[in-house]
Amino acid sequence: MSISETKEAFDPEYLRQKYEEERVKRLRADGNEQYQEMRGDFSHFIDDPYVENPINRAPLEDEVNVAIIGGGIGGLFAGARLREAGVEDIRVIEKASDFGGTWYWNRYPGAACDIEAYTYLPLLEELDYMPPRKYADAQEILSHCQNVAKKYRLYDNACMQTEVEKLVWDEASRRWTIYTNRDDKIKARFVLMVNGPLNRPKLPGIKGISKFKGHTFHTSRWDYNYTGGNSRGGLTGLKDKRVGIIGTGATAIQCVSYLGESAKQLYVFQRTPSGVDFRNDHPTDSEWAAGLKPGWQKQRQKDFTAVISGRGGRRGEIEQLDQFDDAWVEMGKIYRRRMRELGSDVQPGDAGRIYEFANFEKMENVRNRVEDIVENKEVAEALKPYYAFMCKRPCLDDRYLPTFNRDNVQLVDTDGQGVEAITETGVIVDGVEYEVDCLIFATGFEVGTDYTRRAGYDLIGVDGISLEEKWSKGMISYFGIHSHGFPNCLLIGNGQAAFTANYPDALDEGALHTAHLIKHFLDNNISRVDATEDAEMAWTAAVVGTKAVTMMGGSTCTPGYYNLEGQHDPRSRYNQPYGGMVGANKYFEKLAEFRDGGKFPGLELS
Ligand code: NDP
Repeated sequence: MSISETKEAFDPEYLRQKYEEERVKRLRADGNEQYQEMRGDFSHFIDDPYVENPINRAPLEDEVNVAIIGGGIGGLFAGARLREAGVEDIRVIEKASDFGGTWYWNRYPGAACDIEAYTYLPLLEELDYMPPRKYADAQEILSHCQNVAKKYRLYDNACMQTEVEKLVWDEASRRWTIYTNRDDKIKARFVLMVNGPLNRPKLPGIKGISKFKGHTFHTSRWDYNYTGGNSRGGLTGLKDKRVGIIGTGATAIQCVSYLGESAKQLYVFQRTPSGVDFRNDHPTDSEWAAGLKPGWQKQRQKDFTAVISGRGGRRGEIEQLDQFDDAWVEMGKIYRRRMRELGSDVQPGDAGRIYEFANFEKMENVRNRVEDIVENKEVAEALKPYYAFMCKRPCLDDRYLPTFNRDNVQLVDTDGQGVEAITETGVIVDGVEYEVDCLIFATGFEVGTDYTRRAGYDLIGVDGISLEEKWSKGMISYFGIHSHGFPNCLLIGNGQAAFTANYPDALDEGALHTAHLIKHFLDNNISRVDATEDAEMAWTAAVVGTKAVTMMGGSTCTPGYYNLEGQHDPRSRYNQPYGGMVGANKYFEKLAEFRDGGKFPGLELS
């Protein structure tokens, strides 16, 4: 049977057209500019509601060998791998009052990770910890992060509740000076920037947003004093409240069911539905856990990244798919089944079509799931995502869809246009005002904006050049780690580096690599390390040369933060990961090759 003869339960032509209609109706000329930065009148939205012991300390003027900026999962890996390498003089600088990064801030009800805990949680073997269930929730992850910090003594010498404002390179002393909001002037031989990609929450620039007189907050600063309860539910403070939530991304999908079961009335304002897949959480199989061999977690992470990116992996065997049984890998399994069914009839050039049909089938499953669960047909239709898998972040949740069968919950679908206006008392959609006592913004984080804006600080390098200026037309780097003119500063992130849905895998690879380099530099009295211009131009060219189709949320997708809100910003080619969506394991190999060779070509050392 050839590919054109397969019998399908869907009409591919209809789906192609429908996807395109849904995309086009959401495009807007203002792209990323539609969002409102949390500054000025809106700065209270980012105040930290979780601080228990506000720190009051004198400014520091001292020196460390390595300053790590950021105490999230990346900063924890960086600290742990440096300690393992024998680097002792470390300081983590973090704006929150504890470690955890995204898991420090995101404590909204239902917050949990939807990548399996065996793969996602950092350093399980090192901490001798086996998660009790397949998926870990925010409380478990935050406490695990704190345990990592304790084990590797990262609380020692750390500066918590401290925000970096500027980094300045001094050529004479070959040191960075780190200026903070506490008037610190900390000198460092090496700086590791691990700020995280989603650390600055954003608000929509909806007309009238500052007029609202009721209670309001962003999901990453959940106000439990108002709602009662905690991230595991029990929001008793909402029992007599009308609540509105704007946004239906991965965050809203997790917290809506908790709001629905506690609020007197809940309005969910939707612009684009998320694809909500099965979660099927279950306790950890103790027999399986007992049989694991040392090194299992790293191997599992590599296998997961390989199957997610659809490329190669261990001995190139696709069988590694079978050890995972979640919605992330279902797409790969459908593709494999279709290939098998076609057998020897697969022709050269069929792969694209087989992938497209596998993707249609996968998303039909997601849409059928909505129909099976949501009783009201009109509501069910509005909740169906019409775009390809991975255009938006897939969500794994078994509680969200049934919430729309509750009498006190109403979906307010905006047909892709978004909320029209906000008044003193409520939210307007299509000319109708929905009055609310509490308005929650589940509107996400800055992603496509400039690196320095997201980091919250700029770097002033050799001859006074600023990183903001240098990267104003897009990122220029060597391995996504070094940038010429900014010596002794190393970056662990995903721009020009690795993308994998299991982000900790990429963070750990970056941490292992940079710890190895820094240890070598310190042991060999190398006081200045900079990438050559040639090396970074060649690396950047390789990144830019990757076809846009392999980027997350390509140009045929509905707008969102995966594709810079559907705008054709040439900077996105520069800022994308190495190899686009499928280059992670290749990138890791390149890092290993570079450091194991011991010669570090492309770096100038003195
Ligand atoms: P997102 O950016 O994914 O979602 C923002 C939501 O706000 C979207 O639904 C968007 O609609 C909506 N929105 C924006 N402006 C308007 C408007 N004017 N009117 C109506 N709606 C509007 O943010 P999230 O916080 O949900 O998720 C961010 C990321 O955090 C995820 O993608 C994921 O990477 C991570 N995350 C991870 C989890 C995990 O399990 N590991 C769990 C939760 C989050 P539209 O889609 O149309 O733009």
